Amino acid sequence: NGVCLIHPEGETGQLQDTLRQVENERNKLDTLFLHMTDGVVAFSRTGEVIHFNPSAEEMLHRPIGTDTTFGELFGGLVSLERVLAVPDYLQEEQTVEERFLQLLMAPFDRDRQGGVLVVIHDVTEQRKNEEMRREFVANVSHELRTPLTNIRSYAETLVDSAGDLPPAMEKKFLGVILNESDRMTHIVQDLLTLSRLDSGRSEMNMARFDFGAAIDSVLRSIELEARRHGHELTRDYHDLPMIMGDRGRIEQVMLNVLGNAVKYTPDGGHIRVTAGTVGERVWMEVADDGIGIPKADRSRIFERFYRVDKARSRESGGTGLGLSIVKHAAQYHGAKLELKSDPGRGTAIAVNFTVPV
Ligand code: ADP
Repeated sequence: NGVCLIHPEGETGQLQDTLRQVENERNKLDTLFLHMTDGVVAFSRTGEVIHFNPSAEEMLHRPIGTDTTFGELFGGLVSLERVLAVPDYLQEEQTVEERFLQLLMAPFDRDRQGGVLVVIHDVTEQRKNEEMRREFVANVSHELRTPLTNIRSYAETLVDSAGDLPPAMEKKFLGVILNESDRMTHIVQDLLTLSRLDSGRSEMNMARFDFGAAIDSVLRSIELEARRHGHELTRDYHDLPMIMGDRGRIEQVMLNVLGNAVKYTPDGGHIRVTAGTVGERVWMEVADDGIGIPKADRSRIFERFYRVDKARSRESGGTGLGLSIVKHAAQYHGAKLELKSDPGRGTAIAVNFTVPV
């Protein structure tokens, strides 16, 4: 018995260690699998489910068991044989309960028994964003083309009839050209503002400033326009606090809301600006007795280019972007918007800033 090259205790100890390590890895993998947001289903070579995670059941909207087959789940898209034969992976798509699912299917462990692994990825948000972007580009092109077409046709008429038109007519045509190029400038300016807000590229110029003084200055800048329409502009606020925020952006929010009240109230209307504090917050409200916003449109007016009445908005110099700028800029300050409207009687929009007072 004297020769004992192997130490049984040591050997078993090592084996146990290795087993423990394997077990650990397995647990890690199981946990990962269980909590993955992507769905995963593994099939044997013959197409039976050997493994799946809860996300897969949820995304495919059906129970999965070991008796579920590849054919039942994905047979409508591709055959198991085809997946087994691809060199790397196949990409398929499926819609389940209005969600777009992207499926990556790959054979695994080809040399041995092997099978097929399917990873399910929900791309609904991505698709929606792409769709929104496409729609946005189409809208921008359309909005810019309209004034461009007008500019071109009026300029053409002026050129073709050089000297033949009565001076009053000529002046009118030139006026249209000026107006339309102003409109294009407004659209481009608003688009730039939005894109800066979107990309998060524009820095915030945070500083302490007098909330009441900001409202005063916005009111001053709109006073003339309001008077031109015969509106009565009343203000009801006092002793407003100093707040911390980006004054330029907050004034833009106020100006756009107030500008709309002026635009969408028939001449000789009443516009009332109130403001105050609630606890740590400040708010401002603009109420008008204008045309109001129909219920069906209320949830949409903060969308880009959404307008209840295109012709009316265009006539008053609107771009359809004002309120989406308001929404974005308000978000920057954690501000909540509140809209009350009664078609034919008026609209009130309140902005509640959660800036530290
Ligand atoms: P616009 O440049 O067309 O004014 P906005 O984004 O500022 O674009 O507003 C979107 C739409 O919401 C307007 O076209 C208008 O139909 C409606 N709207 C906004 N404010 C008012 C208001 N105070 N009264 C009635 N309608 C309003």
